[in-house]
Amino acid sequence: MTDFAFSTVSHIVSELGAARRLGEHIAQRFPNARRAMLVTDPGFLKTGLVDAPAASLQAAGLAVEIYSQVVADPPEAVVLAAVDAARAFRPDVVIGLGGGSSMDVAKLIAVLADSDQPIGAIYGIGNVKGARLPLVQIPTTAGTGSEVTNIAIVTTGATTKMGVVAPQLYADLALLDAELTLGLPPPVTAATGIDAMVHAIEAYTSKHKKNPLSDVLARKALELLSANLIAACENGRNLAARQAMLLGALLAGQAFSNAPVAAVHALAYPIGGIFHVPHGLSNSLVLPHVLRFNAPEAAGMYAELAEIVVPAASGSVEARAEALAVAMQQIAIVTGIERTLQQVGIKETDLDRLADDAMLQTRLLGNNPRLVTRADARAIYAAAL
Ligand SMILES: [Zn+2]
Repeated sequence: MTDFAFSTVSHIVSELGAARRLGEHIAQRFPNARRAMLVTDPGFLKTGLVDAPAASLQAAGLAVEIYSQVVADPPEAVVLAAVDAARAFRPDVVIGLGGGSSMDVAKLIAVLADSDQPIGAIYGIGNVKGARLPLVQIPTTAGTGSEVTNIAIVTTGATTKMGVVAPQLYADLALLDAELTLGLPPPVTAATGIDAMVHAIEAYTSKHKKNPLSDVLARKALELLSANLIAACENGRNLAARQAMLLGALLAGQAFSNAPVAAVHALAYPIGGIFHVPHGLSNSLVLPHVLRFNAPEAAGMYAELAEIVVPAASGSVEARAEALAVAMQQIAIVTGIERTLQQVGIKETDLDRLADDAMLQTRLLGNNPRLVTRADARAIYAAAL
């Protein structure tokens, strides 16, 4: 067996209603904490779903600051303003409550609030020095898996992003509560759920760091996600399906945090960066075409995953790998989300720029099971048009 290392969040709670009992969880886990900072975005604040967790923290004797200025794909200035707010409030524990952006900002607050390092010094891999504030993550979408990953993404230019990757970004506690996801509309449930499935698929085929633990997690993630995604879209109040989706997204997050994602994400990032298409949808648009491109190298692994996603698939390895691509396309069809680049406003004349930008994602492309040239990337976009 090849050598490998595996890291993840040390404590995970999957419990319906856990957010309403947040104060108890914090008091149990961090008995000395007196001041809690909740990090979220204005949209989630407006749902009213922050009220119960905030009240339960207060009932447990904690002073609470709700920081709700997070925006999607957070620019550096937003992160720095959040860090300033934390320095003014001086929390003992930072709690990310939201989608990937809120959880990423919570990670950066926990790392930077008590640190002398400027943000520019921590971009890249392993550049965070010293300890961080206690950190809790509570996702409100079943997708990014950011609650169990060691990466935070910051928008540093008009379309450019930088990543902070460091062991300190693993939270102390991740808490899964489907009651927080009840209000997600079907298209968001679908796109974020497909993103989580992509995390599992790309972790399972990750070229250099695929390992037995990430394989087990990716397979269980796909089982939960494929069995519950349509149900959660058809009936958003289905708490059992919602909780299973959250757990599937978390397991996929654990998998890809250790066996990183590849060409689907590399080709999706420019779609999000240039055309402001949400991350999950960007992935979904290119996914089947990347799977077909990769099949000459990865058909065996895709066939193994097809046994989970489409148990009825039969025939040759290639036929079962194709069945996986078809099944993923079928989810987009059934849930009614966009399926072509044209549907999100992308034209033939945009494909060169997309291909150029995708080739800059060398960290991700290096994990892909098949070498991707610029001509390949352009051809994949053309197939997705
Ligand atoms: Zn993703």
